[in-house]
Amino acid sequence: MISSSMRDLDQLFATLAKSRFRSRFRLEAKDRAYLQRRGLEAVLQHGHDLLQRRLVPAGVRNDGRQTPMRGHPVFVAQHATATCCRSCLAKWHAIPAGRALSQSELEYVLEVIRRWLERTHPTAGGLGADGPGSVQADRQRRFALEFEEGVEAATEPPPSPPLG
Ligand SMILES: [Zn+2]
Repeated sequence: MISSSMRDLDQLFATLAKSRFRSRFRLEAKDRAYLQRRGLEAVLQHGHDLLQRRLVPAGVRNDGRQTPMRGHPVFVAQHATATCCRSCLAKWHAIPAGRALSQSELEYVLEVIRRWLERTHPTAGGLGADGPGSVQADRQRRFALEFEEGVEAATEPPPSPPLG
């Protein structure tokens, strides 16, 4: 289904998380309410239609500006995942511009958007969603716990911070 030129999604999301610009995107309360009301599948179906018009064609008019910054959860997810325009698709996802997207490429883009919506707003179908920051904090905390459990001797010096 997914061609080898497309990046592994885990790797992709790790890279996106390092981009200050991409990781800044958040769903507004209105978008979260919409997602919750309509459900993820319906929102993605709508996204499919939006992408057909805005991303799939070979010659998209005003490429780079076809995706509004707000107004639909899929738009926000597109900016957050660098699937907002054909030049970002080429740069981040190795999907060349200048030709129509294939069906499997469109499915890939939708999968990326789904992943972002699910990861950033895991309770999209439920209540109590707060910021995505708490998810990350939780993950870091869990990692720290796992790390501590792995270290037997408490006398060992603390690990040096990661480089970079
Ligand atoms: Zn773009």
